[in-house]
Amino acid sequence: MTGQVSGGLPEGRRPRVAVLGGSLIGLTTALVLRDIGCEVDVYERSRVPLEGRGVGIVLHPATVRYLLDNKLLDLGAVSTSAAYHRYLAADGSVLAQHARRHHFTGYNTLYGTLLAAFGRERCHLAHEATAVSQSDDQVQITFADGGTATCDLLVAADGISSFVRRAVLPDVQQRYGGYVAWRGVVDEQELTPETFAALDDSLTYFVGAGTHALTYPIPNYDGAVEPGRRLMNLVWYRNVPEGEELADLLTDRSGRQRDVSMPPGAVRDEHLAEFRAGAAALPPPLAEVAVRSPAPFLQVMIDVEVPRMAFGRVCLVGDAAFAVRPHAAAATAKGADDVWALAAALVTSGGDVPAALRAWEPARLELGRALLARNRDLGEGAQFRGDWVPGDPALTFGLRAPGDSADMRVT
Ligand SMILES: Cc1cc2nc3c(=O)[nH]c(=O)nc-3n(C[C@H](O)[C@H](O)[C@H](O)COP(=O)(O)OP(=O)(O)OC[C@H]3O[C@@H](n4cnc5c(N)ncnc54)[C@H](O)[C@@H]3O)c2cc1C
Repeated sequence: MTGQVSGGLPEGRRPRVAVLGGSLIGLTTALVLRDIGCEVDVYERSRVPLEGRGVGIVLHPATVRYLLDNKLLDLGAVSTSAAYHRYLAADGSVLAQHARRHHFTGYNTLYGTLLAAFGRERCHLAHEATAVSQSDDQVQITFADGGTATCDLLVAADGISSFVRRAVLPDVQQRYGGYVAWRGVVDEQELTPETFAALDDSLTYFVGAGTHALTYPIPNYDGAVEPGRRLMNLVWYRNVPEGEELADLLTDRSGRQRDVSMPPGAVRDEHLAEFRAGAAALPPPLAEVAVRSPAPFLQVMIDVEVPRMAFGRVCLVGDAAFAVRPHAAAATAKGADDVWALAAALVTSGGDVPAALRAWEPARLELGRALLARNRDLGEGAQFRGDWVPGDPALTFGLRAPGDSADMRVT
């Protein structure tokens, strides 16, 4: 695994670190760097603790490495799992099935545990960065309210629309992939017995012309993980041409045009009606999950690729650097892996921030490019080329290789 961190930083060589963005990768950064001896503060734009994002997260060892290493999470108690990969035909019959176990949890579970571990004291909400500058010795951040902070290292974990990335790499653009992911969840208790039985213990796929969809069980809002009391999570990828059609879909109920996602409750009624009517093209069990989802929402499939991640005393991690499509279900894992490697580089350099970032960057770019390329290829194969072969192991989730998130340690 990347970033075997042995020991910490010596007294007097411990950088003051500012982490921008207090979501999964920002908090993981804060914890990992604090443990090697850094002084860490997290600055998050949101005024309230985050919740509910992304709904289900497919677990990968890197995503939960900090929490497991420090015995902060009983994964068995907070995750669901599915023993099979199953591909259904449009009529609901089984095209392919393989025994391959994956584990899933919810964004809230990971976020809440990371935040509790770091503590609220140095996690500063309502701090939106609006300017960043650096000298040879330090970085200065200015916030929307006019306040400032200085540090020796700024780690930008500010997500797909990263403010820091736009400041340091103004030419990097978000590239639309030509399709969106509709997402929905239904309480398993609301499903018919036939649908529950069809989806219960599997990661269930459907691949059709210009579309694909999948379901998997995730913990319920109250944390329940027992079969029958969980949520069934649907992700349905649908092609939407760029231009007027996409702009209309992304115009929410209040008339506001969104760019990367539409949260639950924001999608307009005519689009919800079209989503529910269109679900008739899915195999019956997936169609039922789509139709019964009370508040479908969507995420736009976007690629962001950066030529650099290190800039003197500033670096980009997680989605702020490479934002990838979700087909390999490894974006959070990639972000966490960035962070572990950063800690190892800081320790190796004895706390010399620019030297650490220079040493850290090449392998991070390589991993980011590889993951982005694999996700793009998977997405284009399903949505445009139509060359997915049901059951092909190359289609399975994974960070460095297909399947490296299967059968992970859950004790
Ligand atoms: C459909 C879909 C399914 C997915 N499924 C999986 C999965 O199964 N497994 C997986 O590993 N990953 C999955 N992902 C990806 C995962 O959701 C992201 O990779 C991960 O949440 C990124 O974390 P982050 O901390 O880098 O960014 P974010 O979670 O986007 O957080 C960025 C934070 O920065 C804050 N911020 C932004 N600008 C500023 C500013 N100027 N000042 C201060 N704060 C700021 C934001 O408020 C936010 O809290 C999926 C993504 C999608 C779209």
